Amino acid sequence: MKIVDLKGLTLKELEDFALSISEKKFRGKQLFDWLYNKEVASFTEMSSLAKSLRDKLAGIYRIESIQMVDVQESADGTKKFLFELLDGKRIESVLIPPRTAFVNPQAREDEEQKRLTLCLSTQVGCPLDCKFCATGTMGFLRNLTTGEIIDQVLLVKRYINKRITNLVYMGMGEPLLNYDNVMKSIEIITTGMGIAARRITVSTVGLVPQIRRIANEKRKMKLAISLHSLDDKIRSALMPIAKKYKLVGLLDAVDYYFRKTKLRPTFEYILFDGVNDRDDDIQSLIKLSKRIPCKVNIIPFHNIHFTDSIERAGELHPTPSIKMEEFAQRLREAHITLFIRSSAGEDIDAACGQLAVKTNKKHRISINPSASGGIQHSTSEVV
Ligand code: SAH
Repeated sequence: MKIVDLKGLTLKELEDFALSISEKKFRGKQLFDWLYNKEVASFTEMSSLAKSLRDKLAGIYRIESIQMVDVQESADGTKKFLFELLDGKRIESVLIPPRTAFVNPQAREDEEQKRLTLCLSTQVGCPLDCKFCATGTMGFLRNLTTGEIIDQVLLVKRYINKRITNLVYMGMGEPLLNYDNVMKSIEIITTGMGIAARRITVSTVGLVPQIRRIANEKRKMKLAISLHSLDDKIRSALMPIAKKYKLVGLLDAVDYYFRKTKLRPTFEYILFDGVNDRDDDIQSLIKLSKRIPCKVNIIPFHNIHFTDSIERAGELHPTPSIKMEEFAQRLREAHITLFIRSSAGEDIDAACGQLAVKTNKKHRISINPSASGGIQHSTSEVV
């Protein structure tokens, strides 16, 4: 007998589902509330449903499709969650605590203190092969379902027993290559789980048609673009997909997004020593910020030497911190809204893909703080 997932269905789909199993339409709304708001793990707990209906559901339908198999906590409070999917594949999410020291100094402190940001995965692996990225070393295994995306939020929320205030689609994978499931998850989260679209950021490598599509979505969510260079040649060397989507078209699409949504996009910019941290790069970023009102998120590069494919990023080195500070200072002087990502979670492999890459390969959890690297998570600045 085929088991069907209910998690991942929207309100309308659950109402149709109720009708399709000869129940009243309002049962769909009840199911919606149980699944996304009251967070039960079994049909038995759905006390407002008749016992006969609960029994009917229990045999054929499934609520959860992911299981939390490991949690690591960093000294700074960043938590990394490893999940196993029903087919045994592994993904991860990272919870980023409030950190006033690293976020917008103009932001209200009480608001900052309450901010809890969860970084979500959207694919198992990723096909884009960015040369600096841990997830890329896995290759692409598959897209996550809507339910698997939503479950990351629900399971973490249940585990920490606190409200998650912000979401960033910045974990493993390229969200815009899993467009429909990502948008559906955002529809469910904003209508059923109490997180507003303006607190949700989708991060992309820069897929032009999808950026235009996002700009036209009914829900206005925030957008972050992994820019990393304003020179097509350098960008393509770092991110092969940039050969297909050149800067001229990409920036037009981002400009379009800003004009349609009135939301300032965030440009993410990993600093690589001698590659994209030169004077010319500063000038190009200043020029860009004059064209598109935006924020710039400077990210220190974390070498992916924890993987077995050291050669991939062999020629890339992090910009030394003094030089990074100078780079940032020059941008600030040009009145660019700028954040430098902190080193949160470094000790727990809190890099998108890092832990899951390890465990997908070895199929066991190995924790080796000294071998950590990768992305640090203080992504809360961008939301
Ligand atoms: N595919 C999406 C989202 C996942 S990557 C995207 O490209 O935006 C999330 C962010 O982490 C991106 O800005 C990415 O460039 C950055 N990142 C990936 N590997 C990194 C590393 N080794 N060090 C620092 N940042 C990294």
